Amino acid sequence: MTELTALSVAAALTGLASGEISSRDLTHACLAAILQHDPELRCFLAVEPEQALAQADAADARRREGGILPPLLGLPLAVKDVLAVEGMPATAGSRILAGFRPPYTATAVRRLQEAGVVILGKTNTDEFAMGSSTENSAFFTTRNPWNTGRVPGGSSGGSAAAVAARLTPAALGTDTGGSVRQPAAFCGVTGLKPTYGRVSRYGLIAYGSSLDTVGVLARGAEDVAVLFNVMAGHDPLDATSARRPAPQVRLGVEVSIAGLRLGVPEEYFIAGIQPAVEEKVRAAIAQLESLGAQVRPVSLPHTQYALPVYYIIAPAEASANLARFDGVRYGLRLPHADVIEMFKETRGAGFGPEVVRRIMLGTYALSAGYYDAYYGQAQKVRTLIARDFSSAFEQVDVIAAPVAPTTAFAIGGHGDDPLAMYLEDVFTLPANLAGVPGLAFPVGFDADGLPVGMQLMGRPFEEETLLRTAHAYQQATDWHTRVPRSE
Ligand code: GLN
Repeated sequence: MTELTALSVAAALTGLASGEISSRDLTHACLAAILQHDPELRCFLAVEPEQALAQADAADARRREGGILPPLLGLPLAVKDVLAVEGMPATAGSRILAGFRPPYTATAVRRLQEAGVVILGKTNTDEFAMGSSTENSAFFTTRNPWNTGRVPGGSSGGSAAAVAARLTPAALGTDTGGSVRQPAAFCGVTGLKPTYGRVSRYGLIAYGSSLDTVGVLARGAEDVAVLFNVMAGHDPLDATSARRPAPQVRLGVEVSIAGLRLGVPEEYFIAGIQPAVEEKVRAAIAQLESLGAQVRPVSLPHTQYALPVYYIIAPAEASANLARFDGVRYGLRLPHADVIEMFKETRGAGFGPEVVRRIMLGTYALSAGYYDAYYGQAQKVRTLIARDFSSAFEQVDVIAAPVAPTTAFAIGGHGDDPLAMYLEDVFTLPANLAGVPGLAFPVGFDADGLPVGMQLMGRPFEEETLLRTAHAYQQATDWHTRVPRSE
């Protein structure tokens, strides 16, 4: 591993600004690391070395011109393959999008490009972001850099593993039910799921539109904040985009959490949680207390319903969103003289088993006679879950909890048991159902040397409070700087 790939976002930007490093050298170092390690880790579905180096050269030329420079000029970035980037493939981890090249770029990516980033490539994901391990990718499973027999988490597993393995300083992910936070926890990196509506969904291949968020993964909270500031803000191209000014989170050494009221919900420390996860999360809470936080118990009584509610609402929305993949407009098409047969054959061949399962579940939950019993009921309980959070946030500023009940599980460990896989999401789904922001970051390791993550959840649009809290913790600890052994 070269020294350049060891740089954090903040350090890379400092080096680029001072002229100590060039974007070409930094980008080249990332591409070399990808060439060396990705054949084993399999984080990337597509890498575009020539495009990336051309962007890096353009960034270096722009810097030589001088004047007012965009804030991320020359910084390499990886993008989850559910986000559209013009000039690159977008598969969403699915065969049904084979050959599809979107003619436009997602707003979050476009803002980062306008700020000067260099796109290295597109990262692996569970098909249409449905999964918690990347094992549902139609192409391959990404390996956890801490132990290649383990999953990296998912669905943004390619992004999380790439950041952990130092193949890129930062990566974009998406989070519908935990897909930024859980892989961040499994790979020992920091990942932000913003408030619903905070970052535009334009150009994101839709999964569950009332839950989908675009987030970011990097090594520490400081790095996450730098990218979040650029990505977030109102976008007229997304009708659900919040009319809020762009955030301006600045995290210096002086950040303090003195007086912060930190709530610990008993519902997140349940039987079945891996003892090392509980132990490390409780130790991190104690550390935050020693840094000035006031820790107190808080209750989120409807937590246990989040899992069944999510697994009605998300598939229902997915079944509608995925109707557009019909062999006519995008990607794969199996030709047939009869158009209905063409639809059937294309969809039958193009979708993997988990996606088919979700489409069937969702279609059933929305069908006449069952709509009120399932979808309607789930929406009511979703409201109760959201109210749990609003009343808790009258008493505390931030809620601390585990990200997932276990550390990274073995590849193939959940076999063909979809319910066992869904249970991995038990602590991340509530934030999506309530629309509140969540941040995952590393707080230690289990006895097998696998990272343990902690989750902070906050009031809507208070991402800054979460980032400040994690930053204060990261100033006092060094878990986020640990590097997996790599050959
Ligand atoms: N694991 C969850 C699911 O399978 C969440 C995925 C996500 O956030 N995209 O739906």
